[in-house]
Formats: sequence, structure tokens, C-alpha cells
Amino acid sequence: MKIGFIGLGNMGAPMAANLIAAGHDLTGFDLAARPDGVAMADTAAIAAKDADVVITMLPNGAILRAVAAEIHPVMKAGAVHLDCSTVDVASSQAVAEAAVAAGLSALDAPVSGGVGGAAAGTLTFMVGGARGAFETALPLFEIMGQKAVHCGDAGMGQAAKICNNMILGVTMIATCEAFALADKLGLARDKMFDVVSTSSGYSWTMNAYCPAPGVGPKSPADNGYKPGFASELMLKDLDLSQMAAEAVDADTPMGAAAAALYRQFVQDEDGKGRDFSAMLPRFEKRHRGN
Ligand code: NAD
Repeated sequence: MKIGFIGLGNMGAPMAANLIAAGHDLTGFDLAARPDGVAMADTAAIAAKDADVVITMLPNGAILRAVAAEIHPVMKAGAVHLDCSTVDVASSQAVAEAAVAAGLSALDAPVSGGVGGAAAGTLTFMVGGARGAFETALPLFEIMGQKAVHCGDAGMGQAAKICNNMILGVTMIATCEAFALADKLGLARDKMFDVVSTSSGYSWTMNAYCPAPGVGPKSPADNGYKPGFASELMLKDLDLSQMAAEAVDADTPMGAAAAALYRQFVQDEDGKGRDFSAMLPRFEKRHRGN
């Protein structure tokens, strides 16, 4: 396929490399990044012009809207705009509507799996948009990832992603505060893990990504809390969940509390640049009521 790829940062560059390695004809564009081995165009419009599929992997909804406004008018009739960024549901749906109005197809396909998954080609794609466009993009999902779920109409990929990550943020905080409580009660961390990981408190954050160093499988906690999944990215996704909840009048008190806590951690404490599981050393240092 002829592919345009716009946004070749930490995630986009390895995703593009996998598509090139699989034999696709790919032209990239990025305002700053110049990854090795990718033929780069001078503008987003040039990268998008003749492509069957244009992939965007950008930081936020405002940038996605701006790039979409630039590329939609020049894209081939019937081509697919495949947006893999994590953005707000409203921007995602607005971009999809604009694409359809321009005679294109649109998919929102945010990913989980992080930079490691992007490099290994093991991402999970959560996809919203027309079934036909999903089928066109499926061979690309199979190269860049190990799983692609068609979640429904435009925006439903973003909806699935932010709901998942709202659970993740809340659960990580719960796991970390429980470890800090166990410490103060005198319960050994390995015993805590042994019990909880096989009891009703188990979760992905406890069992697969344990925030306590030296306990459970290897995780960023065993690497000085180097991300992994950085706290500021967790904050971004929690904020997106709260924007979405606001828009549809959903009551999400735990999501709101998690967003407030990660904001404090990232903006006022030492959370920026640390893995989101570094909530555990944060709680360790704290006392009730401060
Ligand atoms: P990044 O900041 O490394 O990459 C974004 C790239 O977009 C940068 O290279 C930047 O120069 C480029 N860019 C910005 N504005 C542009 C424009 N107008 N035109 C062209 N290029 C432009 O970010 P990332 O970590 O690669 O994340 C990309 C997206 O994937 C984000 O939406 C993020 O939330 C999501 N995501 C990231 C991870 C992760 O672990 N990094 C995991 C899942 C999802």
C-alpha cells in the first residue's frame, strides 16, 4: 500500500519502521523528528497526497484537527485517514466527519502497548469507524500490532481507550495506597503480593505491573521507576476521560480523583518523567491528611 505517516515521534517512528520493513511504500512528515530509514516529505499535504492510507500519530486533538484540515483536501477520493493518536472523543469525531465530508473514510485507532509494543509490532488497536475502512486497514494493524478490535462508530476507539486507562489509573492508585498501608501495618510486601495477586484484590497493576520493587514480575519499579508509561501520559488520558465524562454527563468520581492525584504528582511533586507506578514511593513518604 502507499502510506502517508504524519507524526514520527516515540510511537510513530517504530510503527512506520515496521510498515516499511513489511514492504509498504511509506512517506513520512514530522515538524521535528527525522527518523532513519523513512522517506520524508516537506509538508503533511505532500506526504498525504497519493496515499491509500494516511496514518496520523500526534500529541493531541488540536494538532490532529489542524493536520486533518491540511491533508483532507488533497487526499485521494476513498482513501482512509487512520488516526492512531490518543485524543479527545470530540476531536476524533469532528475529524471523522470532516473526512467523510471530503469523500474519505476515517478510523480512530488509539493504541495500547507503549513504545515497546510499537517497536515489537505488538500494539493493540481500539478502532472506531466504518467496517469497510477497518477491513482496509486490517493488514496494517496486523503488521503494527497483535490485536485490533472494531469497537463501533467514529470515536468508539477513543472511548474504549480512555475508559480502559481510567480503570488503569484508578487501579494503580488503589494498589499503591494499599502497599503503603500494608507497609505501615508491618505486612511484608512479598506476603501482600502473594495474597492479593491470588485474591479478590488482584488486578493488572498488582499482578503484571507490580509497583513494589523486587515483588512480582519485572516492572518499571525494578528499574528505578523509569517509564514504562510516564505519569504525565497517564494524566493526559485521565484528563481525556474527564472531558468525555463532562460532555456526556457521566458521574466518574474515582476517575476525577485519580486525575487530581496524577495532576498533583506531575505538576507539584516529582512525578514528571517517572513511571505512573511511582505513586508507591510517593505514598510511602506521606502521612494521613497531607
Ligand atoms: P511524541 O511527542 O514522541 O510524538 C509526536 C510527534 O508528532 C513528534 O515527533 C512531533 O514533532 C510531531 N508533531 C507535532 N505536531 C505536528 C504537526 N503539526 N505535524 C507533524 N508532526 C507533528 O509522542 P508519542 O509518544 O509518539 O505519542 C503519540 C500519540 O500516541 C499521543 O497521542 C500519545 O498519547 C499516544 N500514545 C503514546 C504512548 C506512549 O507510551 N508514548 C502509548 C499509547 C499512546
